[in-house]
Amino acid sequence: MTFKDFNFDAQLFEGVQSMGYLKPTPIQEQAIPIILDNKDLIACAQTGTGKTASYLLPLLQQISKTDKVFTKALVLAPTRELAQQIDQQVEGLAYFAGISSIAVYGGGDGMIYEQQRRAMADGVDIIIATPGRLIAHLSSGVIKLEHVQYLVLDEADRMLDMGFYDDLIRIINFLPANRQTLLFSATMPSKIRKLANTILKNPEQINIALSQPAIGILQQVYMTFDHQKIKLITGLLKSGDFKSVLIFASRKETVKELNKTLRREGVNAEAFHSDLEQEQRETLLRQFKSRQLPVIIGTDVLSRGIDVEGISLIINFDVPPDPEDYIHRIGRTARAETTGTAITFVNERDQKKFSFIESLIGREIERIPLPAELGEGPVYQPELKRKSPFKKRKQPWPKKASA
Ligand code: AMP
Repeated sequence: MTFKDFNFDAQLFEGVQSMGYLKPTPIQEQAIPIILDNKDLIACAQTGTGKTASYLLPLLQQISKTDKVFTKALVLAPTRELAQQIDQQVEGLAYFAGISSIAVYGGGDGMIYEQQRRAMADGVDIIIATPGRLIAHLSSGVIKLEHVQYLVLDEADRMLDMGFYDDLIRIINFLPANRQTLLFSATMPSKIRKLANTILKNPEQINIALSQPAIGILQQVYMTFDHQKIKLITGLLKSGDFKSVLIFASRKETVKELNKTLRREGVNAEAFHSDLEQEQRETLLRQFKSRQLPVIIGTDVLSRGIDVEGISLIINFDVPPDPEDYIHRIGRTARAETTGTAITFVNERDQKKFSFIESLIGREIERIPLPAELGEGPVYQPELKRKSPFKKRKQPWPKKASA
């Protein structure tokens, strides 16, 4: 199948070519015809599959046929980073079709709020918003959503995890009942099914090979005690084999601490977390994209939606709190059919969590012995009952650390 088979308008096709997409990804092959057929859709697909273009392309095709005065499509996304990246894809794909969009997200100063407000009041074709900020604008009564024909919920599971359920329902109440609704989610827990039953009408369903990391990713693991991790990571970073590196840690305190330590060791790294101002985050991402900054350390906020080509190495400084987050983290490398390496550090307490990841992806991840000078790491015994830091909880996973 090729993009020609969708019979997109010439300007949209030009946009696809200018983005360098050669052929549709599996989710695009399946979702685009359904959306063009005006059906509601529930799609289980993770970031890295090309899911964003799978809904943007048919929406842009439909919107290009309508008049241009009102907002016709609303895309809701959990974080400002994801909202911005969706907006960038709209800009690229719709460049020749002349369709307008705006990303609306929280943070920033009053001027940004005012800019968002004015752009929406002037009438923009597509609004891409985080729920909280959109509610703030809706309450001010300036934006009108009564002509919205398409609603997309992107990373719906993450939006619910972040407590946006009531906001989503409030926003949806502003939309016409007669609309097309598309729900994308990396996972399908029952609360997502419940939401889907409430807001979708006879949806088609697509399931893109649940939670499998891209095949181009070389996955490796070190069994290591905490005191060995710093030497191990500095050795890897200084080996010079990796040009662009993302390091993940579950807690922002660990991110800050690790950043300080690595900088003391002479590594050119920066920390990315929720305490930074939006502008600081954007600057970091820009520097990272342009390769001025070779190493970024972040919490799982960074794993959602960061869209950078050519990340060569992902390091999980600890095991992520949720096995699905592992897929998200390592999905930042090997984007769209390239290759990359993902290395996970597993201490004795994280072994059980790590064993859940291996069952989720259905195979064993390659064990790499520690460099001899670091001594022996812990023996892998995930079944061993250890004193758990999450002892008081019933579920095997701790609640997500604050990002
Ligand atoms: P997503 O899953 O939407 O986050 O997309 C992952 C990455 O793949 C983004 O950088 C997209 O620009 C890129 N992408 C989307 N569709 C294609 C395609 N058909 N061919 C190549 N790259 C694509």
